[in-house]
Amino acid sequence: MKRGGLVLLAVAALLGAALGALFVFRADVATALFQRMAPQGVGNVLTARLPDGLHAVFCGTGSPMPDRRRAGPCTAVIAGERVFVFDAGEGAAETLSLIGVSPGRIDTVFLTHLHSDHIDGLAPMALQHWGNVSAQAPLQVVGPTGTARVAAGLNEGYAIDSTYRVAHHGEQIMPPSGFGLAAREFVIADGADSVVVHDADGVRIIAFQVNHAPVDGAVGYRIEYAGRSIVISGDTSRDDRVIAAARGADLLVHEAIDTHLNQIMQNAANAGGRENVGQIFNDILTYHTSTEDAGRVAQEAGVGALALTHLLPPTPLPGLDQRFVRAARTTFSGPVWAARDGDVVSLPASGGIEHSHQLRF
Ligand SMILES: [Zn+2]
Ligand SMILES: [Zn+2]
Repeated sequence: MKRGGLVLLAVAALLGAALGALFVFRADVATALFQRMAPQGVGNVLTARLPDGLHAVFCGTGSPMPDRRRAGPCTAVIAGERVFVFDAGEGAAETLSLIGVSPGRIDTVFLTHLHSDHIDGLAPMALQHWGNVSAQAPLQVVGPTGTARVAAGLNEGYAIDSTYRVAHHGEQIMPPSGFGLAAREFVIADGADSVVVHDADGVRIIAFQVNHAPVDGAVGYRIEYAGRSIVISGDTSRDDRVIAAARGADLLVHEAIDTHLNQIMQNAANAGGRENVGQIFNDILTYHTSTEDAGRVAQEAGVGALALTHLLPPTPLPGLDQRFVRAARTTFSGPVWAARDGDVVSLPASGGIEHSHQLRF
């Protein structure tokens, strides 16, 4: 072999060794990072870090439409030491864990209505609640009429899995009594718009009617603690009852649909010969709220700030989120956020409002 060829061979061997070393080194660095990040994946890091007050934790800002960046609908509200969850869409329990709030800490899950995208993360949430704290009792789920039927169906669907979980880890770690969901339903009396569904330890939660027809019994929630308040619209078309319930609240979490982006989706579906999908994009305008109207509701209610969630259609490009903020600002003069999974809006008991992002794992 010529001398040049030998040099080339040596260089290639050296390069190969360096790359191999780099590969091993990269794995070591990742392992070290993993070790540092693990507590956030299994601990209660966020709840320990927050000041006393009311906090909205966005554990799912998506909708039924596919969106890799957003879990299904879920807003957790931390009130002092207590954790309440409003809706449990697909991926919500996992996202909540990654934010640093253990599902084992959940006091109650409240449902706004029984559309699939708001309940299809309930079973994983119940499993994680059970396993994280060796719960002795099922996860409590509270909602409108039909909630008990949903819970019974999920409990039946996961009954076989529950026997495996107990067999894997034993009854000490997975007490059979802690499996699944325990449902409680509420009814809003004829002639009334709202009902108190929780009142304990300084936390008051009120369910109020919204218009998500033809869905029966859809509600939003107002949560009050330490003089601070958060209102969650649930899924609704523009409704004066949301304005009444949100009057003077510190934060309104409202669903939003960008009608222009929705029209683009509708046109694309029709142009592709999928008129049935195009019709769905047309129908959803009747049971959701445009971003401009969400801003009007916030303005008329006189809320301190507005966080938009359940964003429709999906926003695969970061710049699209800004369309929602821009549209809401045309009708609402306060602070507005297009919520992302992992966002936290804090209302400390001492006053003020803070926005942070906590999804790092
Ligand atoms: Zn929905
Ligand atoms: Zn809905």
